[in-house]
Amino acid sequence: MKWSRTFPTWARIAFAVFGFANIFGALLGTRMGRASIDGVVPGIAVGAVFATVGLKGGFPLIPTTGPDAVSVGIRTIRRRQLAIFIVAAVWIPLAMIVVMPKAPANLQTTVFFILAVPLFVAFFVWALSACPRCGRHFLLNKGIPFWALWPRSRCQNCGLGTDGGPTHTA
Ligand SMILES: [Zn+2]
Repeated sequence: MKWSRTFPTWARIAFAVFGFANIFGALLGTRMGRASIDGVVPGIAVGAVFATVGLKGGFPLIPTTGPDAVSVGIRTIRRRQLAIFIVAAVWIPLAMIVVMPKAPANLQTTVFFILAVPLFVAFFVWALSACPRCGRHFLLNKGIPFWALWPRSRCQNCGLGTDGGPTHTA
């Protein structure tokens, strides 16, 4: 797995510290009776994600294709975007109507968190797609946070379009 490694040092430290604090907080809080057992799994998982991003200094790059097959790569990115809607369409009724009403009251957060993993995976596989042409993130560049992702129709690093528009080779 390739990583973008674009974070400045202060951000790497902040992410890593926040991540490890979450992990230790989740573990120690429960042992000392200050936190509910329901927070352990989400606390450790969220902490591990932050710690990894901090230690790696960036976000993972999920490969699409190489520059010899740019149109295949573009289709892959569009398919990943579509997959989010398909997963969500199945997930919402399944999670909300079938599973959540049966979850034990003291473990609602944990059950919801584990249920949400497929949604997160579908989203991040799309959001972290590598550009088939330049190999950097298609949807992210240094200045673009996740909440500004939608919708982007060209590579934020080299300008390659998803619409079959101008795809001049750099
Ligand atoms: Zn690009």
